Amino acid sequence: MQTHGARFLAGAGDAAHVPPARHPEVAFAGRSNVGKSSLLNRLVGQRGLARVSKTPGRTQQINFFLIDDRLVFVDLPGYGFARVPLDVKRQWKHLVEGYLRHRPALRAVVVLVDLRRGLEAEDVALLDFLDAHRITAILVATKADKLARGHRLQCARALKEAAREQAGAVVVCSATTGDGVADVWRAILERCDAPA
Ligand code: GDP
Repeated sequence: MQTHGARFLAGAGDAAHVPPARHPEVAFAGRSNVGKSSLLNRLVGQRGLARVSKTPGRTQQINFFLIDDRLVFVDLPGYGFARVPLDVKRQWKHLVEGYLRHRPALRAVVVLVDLRRGLEAEDVALLDFLDAHRITAILVATKADKLARGHRLQCARALKEAAREQAGAVVVCSATTGDGVADVWRAILERCDAPA
C-alpha cells in the first residue's frame, strides 16, 4: 500500500503520556533487533520514521505514528534482552501491558519474529497474553531474505504449526527486499476494516 503521510504523534514513557485514541490502532511488538523499526519504515515507505538499531536497554517508550490521518501505528519497546536489569523488564511489562489492556481502539498487535529463530519464550508469553485479553495477533516472520527459498518454506511451516492456537494469520516478509510487505498491509487493513 502506498501511504501518503506518516508522522510521529507522541512518545509515552508512562500511562499518563499515552495520547487519546482518535483512530484505530495497530501495535508492533517483538524482540529487540528483530527488525521492527525496519518493517515500520518499509510499511510507510519512510526510511527514518522509526529509528533502526537502537541501543538496547535505553529509556523505554511507546511511540505513536499517525498514518494517512486514518490509522495509528504503535511502536512498542522491544523485549528479550538478556542483560537488561530486572527493574527495566518490570517497567516494560507495566508500560506495555498497561497500554494493551486499556485500549479499545487497538485492532491488532503485529508480533514480529525472526523467521530463522521462530517463536521464543517471550514471544509465546506475549501471544498468550494477547489471547487471554482477546486481542488479535498478526504473526509476522521477518528477515526472510536471509534464508534460501526451500529453507524459508520449511521455517514458515514450522512457525505456522507452532503458532496454530495463538495467531490467526502468519505472514512471511523481508524489510530489506520488501517481499511480503504488501501481505502485512493486507492483514493490518483487514483488521482495521473488520467490525470492532
Ligand atoms: P528493531 O530493534 O526490532 O527495531 O530492529 P531494527 O529494525 O533496528 O533491525 C535490526 C537489524 O536487523 C538492523 O541491522 C537491520 O538492518 C536488520 N534487518 C531488519 N530487517 C531486516 C530484514 O528483513 N532482512 C535483513 N537481512 N536484515 C534486516
